[in-house]
Amino acid sequence: MKILVSSCLLGEDVRYDGENSAIAYNTSSSFSEKELFMDIICEHSIYSFCPEVSGGLNTPREAAEIISSNKPFNIQTKTGKNVTINFLLGAKNALDLCKEENITVALLKSKSPSCANDGIYDGTFNGKMIQGVGITTKLLEENGVRVFNENQINELAEYLNPKFNKLSLANSLKGLKL
Ligand code: SF4
Repeated sequence: MKILVSSCLLGEDVRYDGENSAIAYNTSSSFSEKELFMDIICEHSIYSFCPEVSGGLNTPREAAEIISSNKPFNIQTKTGKNVTINFLLGAKNALDLCKEENITVALLKSKSPSCANDGIYDGTFNGKMIQGVGITTKLLEENGVRVFNENQINELAEYLNPKFNKLSLANSLKGLKL
């Protein structure tokens, strides 16, 4: 299966601060989740993509937050630079790639104003999270792409192989004296 993956999760230094978010170093992922991630990227076709870089932003760049995630969209940096066009362009490029390559599932970085599927910062740059999704995730989900984040590796594995859960449960039970 083809999977769109946030470039930063694959170790590419494309984050706003010039760093990456490689799953290999994610302290909130267990070793077995990291192994599972490696299995997934070895067994499937991976399309590395960073919407913000694709939308024309430099690395490193100023952190940005979503002020309005509905029309009219409004995404700004901490110093008030309007980067809405860059975010929308990156989202469109991601969707175009998914359509061209028939990609229907994505693994994207949590908490990002582009990639999050599980909450976003509230637009005040005070570190407060609110419900919502990133601009790219919003467009992908509206067009039928299923989005997971790096803390949902087990869910992604089950989605890719519905037998996964039963198999892993069976493996865990092996050797147990019930
Ligand atoms: Fe990673 Fe997405 Fe941010 Fe690019 S836009 S650095 S892929 S979270």
